[in-house]
Amino acid sequence: QDRGIRTTNPATGEPGKSYPPCSPGEAGAAAKAAHAAFREWRKTDFDHRASVVRKAAELLRRDADRFAALMTSEMGKTLDEGRAEIEKCAFHCDWFAGNAADYLAEQPVDLGDESGAEAFVTFNPLGVVLAVMPWNFPFWQVIRFAAPALMAGNGALLKHASNVPGCALAIEALFHEAGVPHDLFRSLILSSSHIEALIRDEHIAAVTLTGSVPAGRSVASIAGSVLKKCVLELGGSDAYLVLEDADIPAAAKVAATARMVNGGQSCIAGKRFIVVEAVKTEFETALVEAMKAFTMGDPTSEGTKLGPMQSVEARDEIHEQVEKSIAGGARLLLGGEKPARAGAWYPATVLTDVAEGQPAHDEEVFGPVAAIIAARDEAHAIAIANASEFGLGSGVLTGDLARGRRIAAEELEAGMSFVNENVRSDPRLPFGGVKHSGYGRECAAFGIREFVNIKTVQVK
Ligand code: NDP
Repeated sequence: QDRGIRTTNPATGEPGKSYPPCSPGEAGAAAKAAHAAFREWRKTDFDHRASVVRKAAELLRRDADRFAALMTSEMGKTLDEGRAEIEKCAFHCDWFAGNAADYLAEQPVDLGDESGAEAFVTFNPLGVVLAVMPWNFPFWQVIRFAAPALMAGNGALLKHASNVPGCALAIEALFHEAGVPHDLFRSLILSSSHIEALIRDEHIAAVTLTGSVPAGRSVASIAGSVLKKCVLELGGSDAYLVLEDADIPAAAKVAATARMVNGGQSCIAGKRFIVVEAVKTEFETALVEAMKAFTMGDPTSEGTKLGPMQSVEARDEIHEQVEKSIAGGARLLLGGEKPARAGAWYPATVLTDVAEGQPAHDEEVFGPVAAIIAARDEAHAIAIANASEFGLGSGVLTGDLARGRRIAAEELEAGMSFVNENVRSDPRLPFGGVKHSGYGRECAAFGIREFVNIKTVQVK
């Protein structure tokens, strides 16, 4: 038991449960068994798979309180956000149960010649997908991948982040109760040092990873060396342009909502607010007001807007980024101090005059820290937004919808661009990034088709 992976409650610093790790040998055996289970599962029809995935949605809703409490105890998310996350997972399962057959229906192609050949495209499952997942949305990140993968006829092995083993095992149990065959979906409590062998394992067909850029690089290069398909959802430093024609109080509310999702620990949280100089002072005041609403509180209490960070180490890293930004010339408008109490607490923080060379400008800040960056005009704001190494989400806050639409659709180098709203993932819309935010897509038809063989068939 002592050798196990022990969790820590981020709100109190107290140790939680300990979980025995899985050995590399057990992981290899699980891959082999998953592959055997996949060969049976691929023969099932969409109706059967849909009934299983719908049952998973039902169980998510049934046990929403328990799952939310588990997330709170392992990574500190507020109970309110946890319940919303579970509902989103259930909606996602229902969506793919209802739509996978259409997304993966054979597509006839009219060759238009006299040969008389029938041509069509069909989508065969690939096999067992290894999913390496992060702690920030412990259920959503997994379900986002798993529901379409199972509907497509694939199997899956989950290597979840080390701080959420309870969530990993709860997801496994939930799928099994829903009717997913035991070996087809497994959670492996595995150190990331054992991932390489699993990627290389002949029973693994492909890999998906959500996490940091270094983890993505490592997984992609190993997958590349054995020519296995790989989807990467990595970090982001989402920029929102605040233009001079925006409704500033409304823009500040969108900005604070975008920044503070999950305590700021989201790849698609708004991180940089690039404000045209004419409205900078007004926006600073409005954003500070909007951010003040996110007061720290017990994550298990109803209505808490900001719980702890996932770990003390992560909190210290955020604080260091803030301090270095201030040393580099940023001005602190709100927060910025580590509370003198146990646990991984960090307050809502606003920095302005953020500029190149400061961590709040150049790096991803994975916590409740909003960075205001001044721009001369629209073109300058777009240039600053696009100068980032990342390209995940982005936003435009403007009173002119045609202008917002043009900038969102044509100018911003990002996988997603929202006008006058905060970026959100949605099973109906493709989700993913460009540049160091990764490649490939999740959700919608684009997502479910990542882990299939898009096969051309011609019959004469
Ligand atoms: P990591 O990328 O380290 O963790 C994500 C997952 O990848 C975990 O399961 C982790 O396992 C695994 N992992 C870590 N290193 C490797 C590796 N070399 N090879 C294979 N798998 C690996 O993220 P962190 O939790 O450390 O967060 C750090 C940063 O990552 C954040 O500040 C943020 O920038 C980014 N991030 C982005 C997320 C997103 O949603 N896109 C989510 C979480 C983080 P283990 O836990 O065992 O190390």
